[in-house]
Amino acid sequence: MVKLASRISTIKPSPTLAITAKANALKAEGRDVISFGAGEPDFDTPNRIKMAAVKAIEEGFTKYTPVDGIVELKDAIIGKLSRDNQLTYDRSEIVVSCGAKHTLYNLTQVLFEDGDEVIIPSPYWVSYLDMILLSGARPVILKTTEAQGFKILPDQLKAAITRNTKAIIMNSPSNPTGSVYSAPELAALAEIVSGKEMLVISDDIYEKIIYDDRTFTNIASLSEELKNKTIVVNGVSKTYSMTGWRIGYAAGPEEIIKAMTKLQSQNTSNPTSIAQRAAVEALNGNQESVGEMVEEFRRRRNVIVEKLNAIPGVTCSLPHGSFYVFPDVSSLFGRSYGGQVISNSSDFTAYLLDKANVAVIPGVDFGHDDHIRLSYATSLENIEEGLKRINSAVKGLS
Ligand SMILES: *Cc1c(COP(=O)(O)O)cnc(C)c1O
Repeated sequence: MVKLASRISTIKPSPTLAITAKANALKAEGRDVISFGAGEPDFDTPNRIKMAAVKAIEEGFTKYTPVDGIVELKDAIIGKLSRDNQLTYDRSEIVVSCGAKHTLYNLTQVLFEDGDEVIIPSPYWVSYLDMILLSGARPVILKTTEAQGFKILPDQLKAAITRNTKAIIMNSPSNPTGSVYSAPELAALAEIVSGKEMLVISDDIYEKIIYDDRTFTNIASLSEELKNKTIVVNGVSKTYSMTGWRIGYAAGPEEIIKAMTKLQSQNTSNPTSIAQRAAVEALNGNQESVGEMVEEFRRRRNVIVEKLNAIPGVTCSLPHGSFYVFPDVSSLFGRSYGGQVISNSSDFTAYLLDKANVAVIPGVDFGHDDHIRLSYATSLENIEEGLKRINSAVKGLS
């Protein structure tokens, strides 16, 4: 047998992608599975964006581009960061990669190594953990509670920082909880980080998917010092329903951006030329589709939260961003079906898939075993039917 490099054994495959693949395989076998696993909007990419890609192909814009992205796209990103986030960057402070996941991967590879500690608030996006492990650094998990809105408190952060702390990864609006940090909350965290030898990685991928009276703030916009410590990570996947196009980017200190570009020059080279042109249109063009998508998500969120709370033993708070809900199902633990006891989120998830034909993600994958994650990036019809199934499955437990 081939002996694989030991670094690959430190990580696991993305569980979200694995469950989605399993649900799809069951569907292909003819099972009527409703999936709440999706980590992507269920809308089509807006036509104006698709047409920009068609135009790029027709013009023969199909060759290598600069490794770190075409100038038009860098300028579109600079424009966006200035317009939406009041952040000013030069072209040398921007690198475009093959999705924000790739951006984060490059970032963890150029920044972290053995002996470093990286703080991740929990519940966390699964990939942060594995990327940090792959870099050799130690993830330091800051557990939050639902009572604190799944947001870390300044004292908690303060207590976690050591001589070895290299960075913290922030994600607001959050996957999986949908929680959103307010500007004062970020300011209180910024105060702790201030004066410390540590960086902030701000994963802003759900920036535009925000509801009610909430507004998005990036910690980098709070002071010049914080801006110099922060690497902003964003992309077009979620805002413009462009997950398959693979365009993400980072903005931050030139030294870090340069290192990421060097790494990228030795693995993927530039992101797809055609997708870059499409991303220029996404950022510079008419933004109407974003508001329409968010309004539809808001409607679905209200329905899914109401229906979850109507299930005895399930509680779900109202999230203010992203397209996930993260209900607490722990009061069902200890109950059983056919002699089999459900004792954690994985058992419950397996039960729902086997007996109710509903796919959800166990909270344990995000660091919180009392919860499950459901994506409402699916039709209202699926939400209604899926929640009916979950409700009767829960009633079937003894
Ligand atoms: C979807 C997602 C990303 C990555 O998106 P890309 O498609 O790689 O741009 C990054 N962070 C979080 C929290 C996500 O949910």
